[in-house]
Amino acid sequence: MLYVSTRNNEEKAAASQAILKGLAADGGLFVPEQIPSLDISMDKLASMTYQETAYEVMKLFLDDFTEEELKHCIQSAYDGKFDTEEIAPLKKAGDVCFLELFHGATIAFKDMALSILPHLMITAAKKNQVENEIVILTATSGDTGKAALAGFAGVKGTKIIVFYPKDGVSPIQQKQMVTQKGDNTFVVGINGNFDQAQTGVKQMFSDKDLGKTMEAAGYQFSSANSINIGRLVPQIVYYVYAYAKMVQMGEIKSGEKINVAVPTGNFGNILAAFYAKNMGLPIGKLLCASNENKVLYDFFSTGTYDRNREFVLTSSPSMDILISSNLERLIYRIAGNNPGKNQSLMRELQEDGKYTITEEMREQLSDFYGNYASEAETASIIREVYQTSGYIMDTHTGVAASVYKKYREETGDTAKTVIASTASPYKFTRSVMAAIDEKYKDKPDFTLIDDLAALSGTAIPKAIEDIRTAPILHKTVCEIGEMQAAVKGFLKI
Ligand SMILES: *Cc1c(COP(=O)(O)O)cnc(C)c1O
Repeated sequence: MLYVSTRNNEEKAAASQAILKGLAADGGLFVPEQIPSLDISMDKLASMTYQETAYEVMKLFLDDFTEEELKHCIQSAYDGKFDTEEIAPLKKAGDVCFLELFHGATIAFKDMALSILPHLMITAAKKNQVENEIVILTATSGDTGKAALAGFAGVKGTKIIVFYPKDGVSPIQQKQMVTQKGDNTFVVGINGNFDQAQTGVKQMFSDKDLGKTMEAAGYQFSSANSINIGRLVPQIVYYVYAYAKMVQMGEIKSGEKINVAVPTGNFGNILAAFYAKNMGLPIGKLLCASNENKVLYDFFSTGTYDRNREFVLTSSPSMDILISSNLERLIYRIAGNNPGKNQSLMRELQEDGKYTITEEMREQLSDFYGNYASEAETASIIREVYQTSGYIMDTHTGVAASVYKKYREETGDTAKTVIASTASPYKFTRSVMAAIDEKYKDKPDFTLIDDLAALSGTAIPKAIEDIRTAPILHKTVCEIGEMQAAVKGFLKI
């Protein structure tokens, strides 16, 4: 299987090369030439572990990895770093199943992909005789940064640099990042928002002079952002796993369609669900849930993607995004896999901050339902689900639960639904507890954590215990215009 750039079909790469490069040379995203079909029965899948399911799905996309290589990557990733053997447990609450994707090292769903990406990358480097040291350059809205740091810290032959918006992440997210250990890690706060951090990172990737300087010093960039195919593919796994588990639990009959609701920012997680559907997994609707930064909702309802608007800081900061990078993969596809058409829309996005797709393209979006949840609606659903079922979800998951409710009320569709639960409530304790009861509003963070444990009857995750006492190791803060200088300083080039 080969991967092509969404902006030109000349550049083709095997999976391992696409993983190493992250972004295609023309700034496009790698997409598989065809989406493979699941070639194994639901009966077999239903009895498989997470790791076995991962192999069945990933081997179809990463076909230049040997069986031994891929299994080694999977075993190294999905191990005791997760606090449950199931890796991604399904929890039923009320009439829905929450697919808990937050049992890894940093208690957010980014761990699902970022615990395997370093292994895929090192394996890919070996396969391709790469001698350079790999420098992972990442912009984060909060969760990617820590998950990438945790994945790459101490990994030989790699360095990792993370930029985060200094005032745009939760206190716990910030503390998690600035306490990161490992000589090969570098964490920088920027005076700007996530989109500016992401744009700065993309510019460095395509800066030819910087590339030459790096090469001369024995370095090359790669990306741990969700545009890397090595992140997208591992995310397809848990949709297949969840479906098979629902069959096993007797929630659904094999072949019955389910809907999935996904709290969406960069459009990576929901795109993985879309790929799973295209592999033949019986998924009906993909519910794309946005917070008050509702660019995607507007896109699905009007056909115009317009990032020219105020950037809102919400209680679901990992979704505070106005440019959803992975949407480009969907645009390319609904443009009939036409790189020219996609390229011109992306140019409009860059130049005017917006573009409008054709009627013909819009007709191909019927798998998706877009909606959004306000801050008040998100808080209200967290409270409601807690009061009716005792289940406590985080704010991001709350956005999806709220959109799911709207969808059901609007359409009457009663298909069984999986809500992708993307973060532990412990990661956003303040907002979660304030949603449940006003009285928690002004208590100190770590008191709230103890309160949450008592209220939910769950154990405080290790990731939280660890940062209670960890020293701050990263204090660098810079302006948007200084990002490149910060990178050169760290690499001493
Ligand atoms: C990153 C993130 C999201 C958004 O996922 P995308 O793949 O960027 O759409 C949602 N919730 C949480 C907790 C996240 O960390």
